[in-house]
Amino acid sequence: MKVRYDLHIHSCLSPCGDEDMTPNNIVNMALLAGLDLVALTDHNSCKNCPAFLQAAERAGLVALPGMELCTAEECHVVCLFSTLDAAMSFNRLVETTLPPVENRPDIFGNQWIMDAEDRVIASVPLLLTTASSISVDEVVQLAREYGGTAFPAHIDRPSYSVTAALGDIPPVGFRAVEVTATGDVDALAAQYPEMRGKPLLLDSDAHYLENIQEAGPWLELPENTPEALIAALNGEFPAVWGR
Ligand SMILES: [Zn+2]
Ligand SMILES: [Zn+2]
Repeated sequence: MKVRYDLHIHSCLSPCGDEDMTPNNIVNMALLAGLDLVALTDHNSCKNCPAFLQAAERAGLVALPGMELCTAEECHVVCLFSTLDAAMSFNRLVETTLPPVENRPDIFGNQWIMDAEDRVIASVPLLLTTASSISVDEVVQLAREYGGTAFPAHIDRPSYSVTAALGDIPPVGFRAVEVTATGDVDALAAQYPEMRGKPLLLDSDAHYLENIQEAGPWLELPENTPEALIAALNGEFPAVWGR
């Protein structure tokens, strides 16, 4: 089946995420957009995933927990997991790899943790937009150890992408690559051979509700489940996709 996805969305836990990016607002916007499968990927944290998954389940939307990890090289890598337990275990590991820099909400924005009713229940004191000590060389293997998958985010952007930080897509086992809507896929594939033959994902990287993308980009999956998506993005069967 064709599954229309958006696998890169920020909530109000990301300091740069709008305060309207609450679990229920994201779920409702995704449903309005006609999406079949969505993932929540805040900077260096999965702490809004419990509420997000609960809100999604209640609304009948298939959702994955995830994180946009900032590696030691300042590359953004989207990590997705098939279960909340795995995501929260990965989250605990990542917390130990972040520098001890406090968030300044007045400068960087709030980092709110919400419950499934969109109530603020806590905020993360550590600034989440710093670089983890996890290197891009180890992130693919690490995500897989937690039953997940990892792909480089927005590789055509001039900041916080593997191409900006390293000048290339490193051959570290990525099985899918994210390219923004404005990226010239053919030109990029000519420049970065590592992209060839892999699904080129198109996600919104939404920080505001109105940026969550309309149903369009799709992956062919045997069923619309987090497990099937992870398997597809890990190259366990030949990927069929469109964007
Ligand atoms: Zn990013
Ligand atoms: Zn992002």
